[in-house]
Formats: sequence, structure tokens, C-alpha cells
Amino acid sequence: MQHYLCVTCGAQYPASDTPPARCLICDDDRQYINPDGQQWTTLAALQGHHINRFAAIAPGITTISTEPKVGIGEHAHLLQTPQGNVLWDCIAYFDDATVREIQARGGITAIAISHPHFYSTMIEWSRALGNVPIHLHADNQPWVMRPDPAVRYWDGESLDLLPGVTLLRCGGHFPGSTVLHWRDANDGAGALFTGDTIKVVADQRWVTFMYSYPNSIPLDEYTVRHIADTVAPLPFARLYDGWTSVTGDANDAVRRSAERYIAHLRGDTPGRLRPDQ
Ligand SMILES: [Zn+2]
Ligand SMILES: [Zn+2]
Repeated sequence: MQHYLCVTCGAQYPASDTPPARCLICDDDRQYINPDGQQWTTLAALQGHHINRFAAIAPGITTISTEPKVGIGEHAHLLQTPQGNVLWDCIAYFDDATVREIQARGGITAIAISHPHFYSTMIEWSRALGNVPIHLHADNQPWVMRPDPAVRYWDGESLDLLPGVTLLRCGGHFPGSTVLHWRDANDGAGALFTGDTIKVVADQRWVTFMYSYPNSIPLDEYTVRHIADTVAPLPFARLYDGWTSVTGDANDAVRRSAERYIAHLRGDTPGRLRPDQ
């Protein structure tokens, strides 16, 4: 029996003798089946061929990423707060060296993950780090591919994880798409961690909001405005998605970007076409 792992997205499945028939995460409008067909691997087969890099990017904020890339290639974030450490988001590759690196930084008291594309091998991380609770929004339960008692589902619009560390449900990319706000990060300027809920674009002064990033499927006006309105009252000078961060005033970047996006949805932009033109 093995816990098979999807090569394309990194989602890990319950133990089985043979690989699952298909990956439910990839077989969805938001993702895609590898052009070479569905492929599977295991964590044991990957171990020894990859390394997880730890990079301190701000006081108390460390990214964890895998080289060479596994699955989607997102970064996890280790947040070291005075009240305890949190692993925000998760990556598929995991090994003993990763455990040692995290323990050397004080271990973790909680795992929270923005959405199903990053659930990956979360159960392995939880078990190896002391059966740490994994906080997921209940509306994303249908996309939990490896159910486990370590998963704690939360309902509603927000959850106070630790003093000054709050999960907020924004929706959009997935019904339970979540962001994490750390009030005291960056010397009190605040930080927002967004996964794929709010994503930094090529011009890093701006962000976007999509139903599917690989398939370029947009969201509607109501949903984009709801996401922007949910985070608008929060103080955050920096915004970190699953790969990179915004440059400049991040709170204002979300506001400006939502207005730009909605203007394009309405056709209220230069170059628009109209029936009478
Ligand atoms: Zn997959
Ligand atoms: Zn995603």
C-alpha cells in the first residue's frame, strides 16, 4: 500500500495498492491533466532527488520551496510569531531534513492552507511535526483527497488562529479560499498571505483574482469586489502569494487592482468594442 502523489499537482491520496484512476484536483476546470497523461509518484520515490530550501525573506517570515520543482512549485511560509509558529500553505516534497530545519526554528503549532491546490502532502507534515492541527475551510472539504483526523474544518468568514494571526475566507478561486493576516508582521505594518486567492502579477505593483490561473478563467465582478472588500479594512503593507510578493503599498495594490479588473469586466476601458461601433 502506498500513498500515491499526483505528478502534476502534488496532491497525495489515501493508501492503495495501485494508483487512483484519476486525480480529482487535476480533473477540474481550475487545473489540467498533464499532456502526457495522468502520472503518479510517491514521496519515497522523490526523496533524495530534491531539497527544500529555506529562505528568510522578512523578520519571522521564511519561505520553503523545493528544488528541483515538485508539482505546482508553490512556496510554503513558516511564520515565527511570539505566540507560536505557523506553517502557511504546504508543498508536496517533504523529508527528514525539512523536519530538522523546522524544529531548529522552534517547530510549529498550527498548519493553515489557502486552498486545495496546496493541500499536497499536508498529512505527512502534520504527523512528522507532532500531529499539528491542519486548519482548512469547511467549504473546501470536497477537495481534501487524503482525509485525516489532523484536519480541523472551520466554518464562517474568519478564524483567530493565534493572537494577531487571523484566517479570512475570501472565496473566488475556491469557495473556501482563505487568506492569512498577520497584524504584527513587518514591524507592525502587517502582512497578508494569499496563496492563489489574490495573486501577484508580472508587474509586481499589481495583483489579480482568477477562477483558474493555468486556464485563464476569470471571476465575476461581485466575487472580485467581495475579495477586495474582505481585505480592505486590514492593515498590511506587504502581500505574499504562493510564489512572490507585491512591491509598494500592498493594501492599495489590491484596491487598485480590483478596480482595474472590474473596469475591464464592464468594458469601461480603452479599446472596448460596442455593438454600434
Ligand atoms: Zn493532480
Ligand atoms: Zn490554485
